[in-house]
Order: sequence, then structure tokens, then C-alpha cells
Amino acid sequence: MTYAEIREAVARLCAAYPGSYWRALDRERKYPGEFVDELTRSGFLAALIPQDYGGSGLPLGAAAAVLEEIQAAGCNGASCHAQMYVMGTLLRHGSEDQKRRYLPAIAAGELRLQAFAVTEPGSGTDTASITTTARREGDRYIIRGRKIWTSRAEHSDLMILLARTSPAAPGMKRTSGLSVFLVDLREARGNGLSIDPIRTMMNHSTTTIGFDDVAVPAENLIGKEGEGFRYILSGMNAERILIAAECVGDARWFIDKACAYAKERVVFGRPIGQNQGIQFPLAKAYANMRAASLMVDEALRRYEAEENCGPEANMAKMLAADASFEAANVAIQTHGGFGFAEDFDIERKFRETRLYQVAPVSTNLILSYLAEHVLGLPRSY
Ligand SMILES: Cc1cc2nc3c(=O)[nH]c(=O)nc-3n(C[C@H](O)[C@H](O)[C@H](O)COP(=O)(O)OP(=O)(O)OC[C@H]3O[C@@H](n4cnc5c(N)ncnc54)[C@H](O)[C@@H]3O)c2cc1C
Repeated sequence: MTYAEIREAVARLCAAYPGSYWRALDRERKYPGEFVDELTRSGFLAALIPQDYGGSGLPLGAAAAVLEEIQAAGCNGASCHAQMYVMGTLLRHGSEDQKRRYLPAIAAGELRLQAFAVTEPGSGTDTASITTTARREGDRYIIRGRKIWTSRAEHSDLMILLARTSPAAPGMKRTSGLSVFLVDLREARGNGLSIDPIRTMMNHSTTTIGFDDVAVPAENLIGKEGEGFRYILSGMNAERILIAAECVGDARWFIDKACAYAKERVVFGRPIGQNQGIQFPLAKAYANMRAASLMVDEALRRYEAEENCGPEANMAKMLAADASFEAANVAIQTHGGFGFAEDFDIERKFRETRLYQVAPVSTNLILSYLAEHVLGLPRSY
């Protein structure tokens, strides 16, 4: 399948999930199970799993194309995007045994790996300061602590968890002593693990998770003990690029919707789109979306060529999140009062795309990264 064919197929699938479907879920804050099941059955969510393990073995660009089209169709890939990048941790750092055990079942849709538990209430952006611990006891680890913003945990069978296996000690690198585990949520739930939903401004199925001495088999440790921070970090570029592709898709949707409305809405005897006051913000939002899209392409090119893509992945995420939010704002303005009406979907998508200024990494932290690592300025924190 070419990327153009992938895009067309995704758009066809998404056409069966119109605004009314998403609006109904949004009101109830319900998970789009049918949509995610169909994406899974179609094989799109297994795009990055190698063919040896039952997936399509496609490069990251294919996953970016899938997620961009989902958003451009007015759907919400946040319900399942994590499976695309979370799996990279298992793929790159998991043992052959772990990969054989889980990847084919994930590719076949028998297991869902949608949850990723890194952030904690007290740590925020400062990941190295997490306090959830994993204590080795014979052939298992005992997990104790609390995570926040663990999205889709209620709709996932497996979860990637970052926990501290050695206490932070003076003189030790802050980022060492952290380890990554694959937690089987089906076994852990009711055995010390509790999940509490957080109601947010958009429908995102996010939760807090409590670990009250949850036992995880030692064989579920991914890679080497103490190296977890590096493993999580290595997945972040892919995550940033994929979220950026989603934001480009959102921006396309807002601009398409607003242009269509601007052509048909007649005020003072002419279409509002004839006024430069309506045209120019749309043209500017379009230019910014295209520029962000080029940065996504460049980040993908470098990622796939195994070159350092940190600056481009971060810039793509920031520029695309800015472009999608600008387009969202312009779409509301173009729709006038109707931009606020649920039935137009603009306000829903506006709420959804706002998230990407903050998560998975906030704009300030991207600017700090660029200032320090690209411009050579002193570290600010
Ligand atoms: C809906 C939702 C879903 C999420 N899903 C997941 C998930 O599935 N898994 C997961 O692990 N996490 C998830 N997150 C967490 C997300 O990654 C964090 O919210 C994000 O990293 C910011 O952390 P924080 O909320 O603690 O903000 P804080 O770290 O408290 O920061 C608050 C503000 O201060 C700014 N700030 C902090 N330090 C600095 C500094 N040094 N310089 C300048 N500005 C600074 C930040 O940019 C931000 O604007 C999710 C969050 C949300 C809201």
C-alpha cells in the first residue's frame, strides 16, 4: 500500500464515524470502542509492528499518515495513538521472548497496549523525580506509588510503567535507577492496582492509578534494571512526531470546515469568505499548517534515516500544536456564534486540540530544549 492509499483507506474508515458519533461519546465521556476496534481490525494500529511479529512493518511515516488522516476526518486518534509509540519501547528494548509473547497478540487485536504510566502528581514534567518504587522480591517486583494522567488505562490490557528501582542518592545521576515494566492490567486490577478516571475538558479517558504493593513478574522488566529513563527518552521523538502529525490533521480539518462555511454563510448580501477579515486569518492558518507539515516531514526523514531528529521532532510538535490551535481559533471566529454550538463539532475539536500545547510535552519545555541543546544557552532548570 502506498501512503496515498493508506490515507484514502483511513479516510474511508473514518467516514463511518461522523461528528454525531463523537458528540454522543463526548457528552458521556465514553471511549470510542467501536472506532478503535475497527482501526485495529483494519491493521492500521499494527503499522509499526514488524512483519515477523504479525504487523505490517511500516516506517514511522505510515503511522503519521494514519493519525493525520484520522484527525483530518474530524475523528479523535487520542483514543488509540499511544499504541503506535508505546509499543516502540517493547520493540526496541524488550527481549525476544517478550516480543514473541506480546507483539503478535497486539497485532491481532487480542491484546491492547494503550497505556503509558510515567507522570506522577508530584513530579510533573520533571520525570527524574518520580517516586513510585519497584522493589525486587524473589522472582517479582513489588510496585508502590501513584501515577496521574495515565490515559486509556481502563481500555488497555497492558501498560508500560516507569518506576524507581534504586533510590535517588547523592552523587548519583538523577535519571539513573529508573526501570520500565510491562504491567498486565488484567492481573493487577483488584490485586493492589486501582484506576480512577479524571474528568477533563475533552473526552480523553485519562486516569490516576494507585499501586498498593502490586506484584509484577520479574520477567516483565523491559531491558536492564536502572536504564528505564533512557528507554522512555528514546521513544519520545516518535511520540512527538506522531502527535505533530495529528495536529496537522486537526489544522486541516478546522481550515476545511471554516472555508466551507465561509463560502456558504451569507451576511450583508455576500458570503463572509469574500471579506479579507475572514480570508486572511484562514490563509495564515493554512500557511502555518503547511510549514508545520514540512517540519513533520523533515523530522520523519531524519528519524527513518536514523539521524538525530531531536530538534526537528520537538519543533514539529510545537509548530504543529500551534498551527492546530491557531486554526481552531480561526474556525470558531469564522463560524461566529455557531462555532460554539455542539452540533458544528468545532468547539469539541477546539477543546481536543488545546491539549497538545501541554501534553505530552509542554511548549515551554520544547523551547528550553531548543535553547539549551540547539542554541547552546545555559540550562534554565
Ligand atoms: C489529558 C492528558 C493526558 C495525558 N496522558 C498521559 C499519559 O498517558 N501518560 C503520562 O505519563 N502522562 C500523561 N499526561 C501528562 C502530561 O505529559 C503532563 O501533563 C505534562 O508533561 C506536563 O506535566 P504537568 O501537568 O505536571 O505540568 P507541570 O510540570 O507542573 O508544569 C506546569 C506548567 O509549568 C511549566 N513549566 C514547568 N517547568 C518549567 C520550566 N523549567 N521552565 C518553563 N516552564 C516550566 C510547564 O510548561 C507547564 O506549562 C497527560 C496529561 C493530560 C492533561
